[in-house]
Amino acid sequence: MHSAAQDAEFGLVLIGPPGVGKGTQAAQLRDEFGLAHIATGDLLRAHRGQGTELGRQAATYMSDGRLVPDGLVVAMVQERIRESPRFVLDGFPRSLAQARALAEVLLVERRRLTAAVFVEAPDEIVIERIAGRDEGRDDDNAATVRRRLEVFHRSTAPVIAYYEVLGILHRIDAARPIDEVYADTQRLLSRLGGTPSSVSFTGA
Ligand code: ADP
Repeated sequence: MHSAAQDAEFGLVLIGPPGVGKGTQAAQLRDEFGLAHIATGDLLRAHRGQGTELGRQAATYMSDGRLVPDGLVVAMVQERIRESPRFVLDGFPRSLAQARALAEVLLVERRRLTAAVFVEAPDEIVIERIAGRDEGRDDDNAATVRRRLEVFHRSTAPVIAYYEVLGILHRIDAARPIDEVYADTQRLLSRLGGTPSSVSFTGA
């Protein structure tokens, strides 16, 4: 399946608290809209698993639920962004410095972000979701989850304000069943020109 629209540039950023379901949404968007799924958490876990220098440097930050230093993360993703005309970023940018670095990577290539989507849900709900995950991650214990939420409110909230001021922020209410949340995301992307609009909604 190949269409002209699938060749059009499309750059999306998904922002949201840990456990809100960004990864699930991003994977569906990858499949449906033909986007490269660039998930910094997954990339970092892969580096850690392979025992690379970056993985070793990132490991303690990750198990503490703190941000891996901006320079390391930016160096890791910039090549992926450059080589992907259509992408969904999942878990990046998480700080203002990362948002500026992203803007610069795109600017050099005369590209721009299509939209930033804030997938939002109250802390209580994401805490519940993380506690209920089957494949528990090593950073899913109560203390680390609390730290990740703190980091989200302190470091990532300014990123939301940044995209709001740029006029490209959209909000999705994620405190609902996952298929309803995804239906909203799907509609939003179609509206933004991501492409498929002849999607079938189950129960929508
Ligand atoms: P979650 O969103 O559930 O916290 P992620 O898989 O996105 O999970 O991230 C897991 C961990 O990886 C974070 O707590 C952090 O230590 C590190 N990490 C991921 N993305 C970034 C980023 N953009 N900047 C700094 N650290 C990151």
